[in-house]
Amino acid sequence: MNVPNRFDLAILGAGPSGSILAITMARHGWRVALLEKMKMPRHKVCGGFIGPANHDFLEELGLLDRMREAGFPVLKSLLMSVPKDRSIEIPIASKAKTTTAWGVWRYEFDDLLVQEARKAGVLVLEHVTVDRIEKGKTNHLFYSGQACPAGSIEAGVVVNASGIDRGQMKGPFHAMGLAAEFENANVPQSQVSVHYAPEGHCGIDPIGKGRITVGYVADPALFERGSKDPDAILGIFRKQNGCLDRMIGQARQITPWKGTPIYLVRDFHFWHDGMFHVGDAVGNVNPVGGIGLTFAFQSAKLLAGLFKRSSAAELAFDSVARDYERLWRRELLGRLRMSRFLGKLSHEPFAVGLMMSVFRSFPGLLKAAFQQQHAFVRSDLNP
Ligand SMILES: Cc1cc2nc3c(=O)[nH]c(=O)nc-3n(C[C@H](O)[C@H](O)[C@H](O)COP(=O)(O)OP(=O)(O)OC[C@H]3O[C@@H](n4cnc5c(N)ncnc54)[C@H](O)[C@@H]3O)c2cc1C
Repeated sequence: MNVPNRFDLAILGAGPSGSILAITMARHGWRVALLEKMKMPRHKVCGGFIGPANHDFLEELGLLDRMREAGFPVLKSLLMSVPKDRSIEIPIASKAKTTTAWGVWRYEFDDLLVQEARKAGVLVLEHVTVDRIEKGKTNHLFYSGQACPAGSIEAGVVVNASGIDRGQMKGPFHAMGLAAEFENANVPQSQVSVHYAPEGHCGIDPIGKGRITVGYVADPALFERGSKDPDAILGIFRKQNGCLDRMIGQARQITPWKGTPIYLVRDFHFWHDGMFHVGDAVGNVNPVGGIGLTFAFQSAKLLAGLFKRSSAAELAFDSVARDYERLWRRELLGRLRMSRFLGKLSHEPFAVGLMMSVFRSFPGLLKAAFQQQHAFVRSDLNP
C-alpha cells in the first residue's frame, strides 16, 4: 500500500470519539489519518446505549440512516429494577423534541463509523502500533503494523482518542465490567433496563435483530466470590434480582464474555504530552448512567468546533487547549461527577432501595436525573 504521509490531523484510536472527530474534520476539508491498534471490527466491553442527547449531532453527520440500515433499534423507555421485585419504567424521549435513543452493538457500530470515516476521505490504518512520536511544529508518527508495512506519517495536530489510559491505573480497581451478546431474551426491543443487586448492576440493551447486550458492573468482592467466572457472577445477580432473571432466564449467549477492570481516572487530560484528548482519554464516566458514548461524541464535537475556527497550520494550540478545557468542564464535568456519585450509590443496597421508593413515588425525579445525565451540549462555543 502506498501510504500518503502528510496530514493536518492524526488521531490515535478508532473508537467513537476518534472516528467522529475524523469524520467531522475530514468533511471540513482537513487531511486526516486515523490509526487503530486493533483490526476492525473488534469487540468492546459496552452496553451500547446511546442517549437521546446525541440525536441531532448523529443526524447532522448523516449517521442515523446508517444506524437504521444496520437494524439498531430506537429505545423508547427505561426500566429500573431492584431486588424484591420492585421496578419503575419511564419514557426516554422528551415530549418537546423528536430525539431518539439507540441501542447499538459496538462490534458493528464502531466498524460502521470507520467505514464512514473512509468514505469521508480519512486514511484509516488498522492493526498498527504507534511506536514513537517526534513532536514539534510538525509531528512525526512512526508506526509498525500487522496488516501493513512499518512507516511514518507527518501531522500538524495529534489527538489521543485511545480510550482509558491504562498507564494511569493504579491501586485496586473500582469494579469489573463484563459484557456479552444474547438472543431469545424476554426483553422488548425498545426498552433499555438497569437491574441493581447488592454488589453491582446489570444493564440490558437491545441491539436489534432480536439480540441484546448484557453488560454488568460487579463489585470486586462479588467478582472474587463468583470465582471471576462471568456466568457465575451473572447467576448471583439473577438470584438477587427476579426481574433480571425473568428477562434473561431463557436467553442464549451468542458471543463470548469480554471483560475490563473499571478504574475511575482522577486526572483529566485535555492537552497533554503534545496531544489533545477526546472521549475516555480525557477522563471516564461510571458506566451506570450509560453516558460514555455521549461523552465520546460530545467531546469530539467540542474539539472539532474549535479546530474549525482556523486552518491546521494556523492553529493556536494554547488558546484551543484553554477553550477546550473550559468548554469541557462547563458542559460535561457536572455529568461526569454525577455518574460517579450514582455509581457509588449503586453499590449501596440501602441507597438503591431508598432511591427506588422515592422514584416510584415521584417518577418525575427519575426523568430529571436521566435528563441531567443526557443533556445536550450547547452549540454556542463561546463562554
Ligand atoms: C461494562 C461497561 C458498559 C458500558 N456501557 C455503556 C453504555 O451502554 N453506553 C455508553 O454510552 N457507554 C457505556 N460504556 C462506556 C463506553 O464504552 C466508553 O465511554 C466509550 O467506549 C468511550 O469511547 P472512546 O472512543 O473514547 O474510547 P474507546 O471506545 O475505548 O476506543 C478507543 C480505541 O482506541 C484504540 N487504541 C487504544 N490504544 C491505542 C493506541 N495506542 N493506538 C491506536 N489505537 C489505540 C482501541 O483499540 C479502541 O478501538 C460502558 C463501559 C463499560 C466498561
